[in-house]
Amino acid sequence: MDGSLLPLLSDADLSGLAATPDLLVAMDFDGTLAHFSDEPTGVHAVPGAMEALEGLAELPNTVAMVISGRNLEQLAHATMLPVHGPVRLVGSHGAEPADGGTANLSPEQQAWLGELRSHTEGIAAEHEGAWVEVKPLAVGLHTRLVSDKELAAQLNQRLANFAATSELSHVTWGKDILEVAVDKTTKGSYIEDFRRAYARQHDRELRVLFAGDDTTDETALSTLRYSPAIAPATAPAPDIGIRVGGGETSATHRLDTPEDVRDFLQDLLRRRDGRSAD
Ligand SMILES: [Mg+2]
Repeated sequence: MDGSLLPLLSDADLSGLAATPDLLVAMDFDGTLAHFSDEPTGVHAVPGAMEALEGLAELPNTVAMVISGRNLEQLAHATMLPVHGPVRLVGSHGAEPADGGTANLSPEQQAWLGELRSHTEGIAAEHEGAWVEVKPLAVGLHTRLVSDKELAAQLNQRLANFAATSELSHVTWGKDILEVAVDKTTKGSYIEDFRRAYARQHDRELRVLFAGDDTTDETALSTLRYSPAIAPATAPAPDIGIRVGGGETSATHRLDTPEDVRDFLQDLLRRRDGRSAD
């Protein structure tokens, strides 16, 4: 369904989230907590958004997370949060958690990443506005500044064609970026793994709230548990997936702008904090 047709969160949704015994609040960064910019290194969250997440992270039985396609170092810079602070930072679409170290690449993956990098740099060098982002496990071809949108699509298609020549490639089409990773971790697989690890460690199930605005977020939005659990009575309420802005999505709810996400997080913090004071 298109995200713009989804319902907003109701008062009951918010109260339910506030009262959830064990809650993961996982947020994408760009387009979700922050507006886009032609200068990605200068992007920061809308005022108050990170503070609300930090507040949530301090509450008992509450995990606050920012999970982004940015590499971990850039994510720490953009969020202005410490890498090992109360808010969990997870970079490279889940492949670079702050507490986990980067996935070890095989020699074949390393070699292919090198080839992808030089090929992508070759494409970008031919066209003004195109630039290459090199990540620990991927390369991204950014075309936001290429004024001819048809040309931008062609550049991305050239990279996609090259990537398709190896089964080590995992291609993701985002907004004005084509990314090719050599590791198959997604935001969805990371959150699933995190949920399992939490259950093992605490012997309780997490309920997941996730918000994102782009294709890569659908890996998470499409794997959340939206149906009431069939079995144990102790299972948490269904997850909540939020699409920020329009676009085809598996989410259950929508918020329209990063400011709306910030207001929602502040409201959730107030209510959940009130609960823990009871
Ligand atoms: Mg985003």
